[in-house]
Amino acid sequence: MTKWIYTFGGGKAEGNAGMKNLLGGKGANLAEMSGLGLDVPPGFTITTEVCNYASSHDGVYPDGLSEEFGRAMGRVEAIIGAKFGDPENPLLVSVRSGARASMPGMMDTVLNLGLNDKTVEGLARASGDKRFAYDSYRRFIQMYGDVVLGVDHHLFEDLLEDHKQGKGYSLDTDLDGDAMQGLVGAYKALVEEELGRSFPEDPEEQLWGAIGAVFSSWNNRRAVTYRMLHGIPGDWGTAVNVQAMVFGNMGEDCATGVCFTRNPSTGKNAFYGEYLTNAQGEDVVAGIRTPHPLSKAEKAANRSDLDSLEETMPGLYAELLGVRDALERHYLDMQDMEFTIQQGRLWLLQTRTGKRTAKAALKMAVDMCVEGLIGKSEALMRVDPASLDQLLHPTLDPKAPRMILAKGLPASPGAASGRAVFSSADAEAWAESGEKVVLVRAETSPEDIGGMHVAEGILTTRGGMTSHAAVVARGMGTPCVSGAGSITVDVDAKTMRAFDKTVREGDVITLDGSTGEVMQGEVPMIRPELSGDFGALMVWADETRTLSVRANAETPADAETARKFGAEGIGLCRTEHMFFDPERIIHMREMIVAENEAQRRAALDKLLPYQRQDFEELFTIMEGNPVTIRLLDPPLHEFLPHDEAGLEKVAEAAGADLKGVRQRAAALHETNPMLGHRGCRLGITYPEIYEMQARAIFQAACAVSQKGLRVEPEIMIPLIADKREFDVLKAVVDATACRVAEETGVSVDYALGTMIELPRAALRAGEIAESAEFFSFGTNDLTQTTYGLSRDDAGDFIQIYHDKGVFETNPFATFDVLGVGELVRIAVERGRATRPGMKLGICGEHGGDPASIHFFREVGLDYVSCSPYRVPIARLAAAQAALGGESETND
Ligand code: ADP
Ligand code: MG
Ligand code: MG
Repeated sequence: MTKWIYTFGGGKAEGNAGMKNLLGGKGANLAEMSGLGLDVPPGFTITTEVCNYASSHDGVYPDGLSEEFGRAMGRVEAIIGAKFGDPENPLLVSVRSGARASMPGMMDTVLNLGLNDKTVEGLARASGDKRFAYDSYRRFIQMYGDVVLGVDHHLFEDLLEDHKQGKGYSLDTDLDGDAMQGLVGAYKALVEEELGRSFPEDPEEQLWGAIGAVFSSWNNRRAVTYRMLHGIPGDWGTAVNVQAMVFGNMGEDCATGVCFTRNPSTGKNAFYGEYLTNAQGEDVVAGIRTPHPLSKAEKAANRSDLDSLEETMPGLYAELLGVRDALERHYLDMQDMEFTIQQGRLWLLQTRTGKRTAKAALKMAVDMCVEGLIGKSEALMRVDPASLDQLLHPTLDPKAPRMILAKGLPASPGAASGRAVFSSADAEAWAESGEKVVLVRAETSPEDIGGMHVAEGILTTRGGMTSHAAVVARGMGTPCVSGAGSITVDVDAKTMRAFDKTVREGDVITLDGSTGEVMQGEVPMIRPELSGDFGALMVWADETRTLSVRANAETPADAETARKFGAEGIGLCRTEHMFFDPERIIHMREMIVAENEAQRRAALDKLLPYQRQDFEELFTIMEGNPVTIRLLDPPLHEFLPHDEAGLEKVAEAAGADLKGVRQRAAALHETNPMLGHRGCRLGITYPEIYEMQARAIFQAACAVSQKGLRVEPEIMIPLIADKREFDVLKAVVDATACRVAEETGVSVDYALGTMIELPRAALRAGEIAESAEFFSFGTNDLTQTTYGLSRDDAGDFIQIYHDKGVFETNPFATFDVLGVGELVRIAVERGRATRPGMKLGICGEHGGDPASIHFFREVGLDYVSCSPYRVPIARLAAAQAALGGESETND
C-alpha cells in the first residue's frame, strides 16, 4: 500500500533529506532536521504522489489519505497539547508548499490556519494576549484571502495602512489588541465584498482549501511557465507540509529570522543573517520594519545601530550558533535557514543549501576543503566553471549609479569604459595617444582587428552572440555588447544615437558585456582578484585533470595572459591576425595585388622580419611549451580595403596601377568565402606564402634555442581535405626547414600536422595521419561544414530554431556531440589506428566550454585550447570531467 503522508517533529521523522522527490525539498529537510534532534515544530508532509494522483483524477484524493491524515494530525495535536479547531485551546498550523526544486511562482505559505471568531478568543485566553491572537488572525485572513481565495493582497495592505493612519501609528507593532480586532472585522468585510460570500469559519474547510490550492497551484500558469523555462518536468508534482505554528509575534521575547551558515555573497566563514523581534514569517524579508543584524560583528561591519540578536538574546544566539555548526557539519555545505523564537525557545523552520555568488562558491569550496569538511574532489565539483568568468573580468560596481542608453546581447563578459570611437583607425589613433576607447561599429569585419585589439570594449548594433565581433572579442577577452539594435551609428558624423541621447566621438561610454547594458559616462568598476582561493582551486584542478589546457593566442600580450592563467602552450596561433598591424598590412596588400611570383616574393620578404619577431616573442614567452602555429587561413580579399579610397592607397603604396588593383580586388571576390579560396588552398596556389611563414618560424626557433631556451614549434596546415594537399605543403615546409638549418647551422625539432575542420578530413583521417604528425580539431569550421551552416549568417534564425526547440543549444557555443562529435570520434580512431598515440587537440571556441570539454576528454584528446581568459575555466572543467561529473548549477 502506498504511504501518502510522512510525519516529522517531536525528535523523530519518517522521512529524510534523501527523499526530496517524494517529500519536496522543504519536507525532506524538515524531516532530516527532526531526525537530527533539532527543535522543529511537529507536522507532516503530504507527498508529491498525492499531487500527481489528484491532478490525474480531477482533484480527487487517493483512498486512504484521509485516515493517514487523521492519524498524522492526531500526532501533532498530542505533541503540542492542543486540538485543531478546539475553541478553548486551538492548534494552529501552517500549510507550506514545497517541490523538489525551489520554485518561485508556486503558491505561497498560509500561516495561523485554524483561526475563526471562536478559536481566536480561545487563543487569546490561552496565551493571555489578545493582541497576539488578533494579530495572528488578521495575518491569516490576509494570507488565506490572497493565496487561496484570490483577493488581491494590496487591498488588505491598504486597509492596514488606513487603520494605522487613523490611529497615528507607523508600525504594525503599535496596533493594540482592539485595533487588531477592528482590522480583522474590516478584512472579513473586504473578503465578503470581493467574493460575495463570507470568509470560511470552519477550520477543516480552511485546511483542505489550502491543501487543494497548493496542489492545483502546481498547474497554474506562472508555475507552468517557470517549469518550462527551467526544464522542470510537470510530473514532479509538489508536496504540502502541514506544520504546527510556533509564534514569533507573542511579544518582545519572540523573534523570527533567516540566516546563512556563511556569508552568501563573500563566502566568508561568518554567521550571517537578520531577524526581527515580535514578528512572524516573512516580515523580515517583506521590509515592513528594518531587520536587525544577528551578530555583533555584522552589526559593526554594517555600521548598524540596531540591536543584534547576540546582544538582545545572547543565550538563544549561542544556541543558534550551535545549530549552525551542527547543520553545516551535517550537510557539509552552506545552509540557508529560517528560525523562530517563541518566548525564549528556538525553533527551526527550514534549511536548504544556500544560493551563493560565484565568488562565495569559490571561497566556500576552498575553505571547506581546508577545514576538512569536504575533500578536494568535492571542492572542485562545488564551483561552476562557467561562473569563474565573472571573477576574471572587471565588473561594474553594483552600487554605482548608471544611466542606461541601450541593451544589446551579452556577447563577451566583463565591463569596459572608454571614449566612443567609430572606426578601427580612430580607435588606433586615440589609443596611440594614450586614451582608452570603446569601438562602436554597426558590425565588425577582420579589417577591424587592429581597432578591436586596442579597444577596452566593443559595441555593435548588428549581429548576434556568434557574430565576428562577439567571437573575436571573446577570444581576446575583451568585453563586448553586440546587436544593440536601438542604437544607430553615423560613421561619417562619428556619432551614435540611443533614444534621445547623442554620443559623439570622444564621449565616454561604459559597456557591461555580462548583461548587455550600454551606459553613458564612466561607471566605477571592481577589479578581479586572482586571490589565494582561486590559485588553490586551480592547483587541485591541475592535480586532477588528465587533459592539457592550451590557449589560442597570437600577440605577446595574449600569450602572457595565457601563461598567467596557466596555459600549457599555445594550441592555435592564427598568423593572419599578425598582418593587420598598419605597417604590415601595406606589405600584405602589396603581396596580394602583385602580378607575379617575383613581386609576391619581394613583398613577402618585407613581411618576413615581422613574422620572425612575432614568433621569437611567442617562443620566448611560452618557454619550452608547445606553440602551434597555423599557416595563413583566410581568403586574401579579407585583407583588402572595401572602398575606392582604400584601393587607391593600396595602388599608391604598391606602386601599381589603380585599374589593375581594382581588377584584382574584383577577381578575389567570392560568393561563398567560407568555402572558397582559403586555408591550404592558398598554400597550394601560392607556396611562397607558406614558405615565408615556415622560414620565419624556423629562423625564430633557431634564434630562441640559441639563447638556450627550449622551443617546440608545431606547424599546422588549415582546411585540409585530402592527404595529397598535405603532402604538397609538407614538401614546402620540410624543404624550408632544411634550408634554414643549413643557413644557420642549427636544426630544431618541429612537428607538422593539420587541422581537421572538414568532414572529408575526418573521414580520411587514417590516410592523412600517414603524413600528418598531429591533428587539431577546428570545431568552429567543422561545425559549420558539418551542418552546412554559416556561423556569420545564422544569427538571424538561430534564435527561432531555439524557440521552436529545433536546437536545444547553439552548436557554435556548445559542441554537437552527436553529429560533429561522431566525425571527431571517427577521426580520432582512424588517425590513431595509423599513427598510434598521435597527439590530438581541439582549438575551436568549444575548447573553453565546460559542457563540451567532457566530450573531448571522453573521446581521448590530449588537450583543449581556448582563449586565454577561458584557460582557468577549462582547467576546472577538465578536472570535473576527470572526476566524471559536472557541477550542479546552483539555482
Ligand atoms: P517559502 O517557501 O516562501 O520560504 P515557507 O513555507 O518557508 O515559504 O514559509 C514562509 C514563512 O513562514 C517563513 O518565514 C517560515 O519560516 C514561516 N513559517 C512557515 N511555517 C511556520 C510555522 N509552522 N510556524 C512559524 N512560522 C512558519
Ligand atoms: Mg521558506
Ligand atoms: Mg578554420
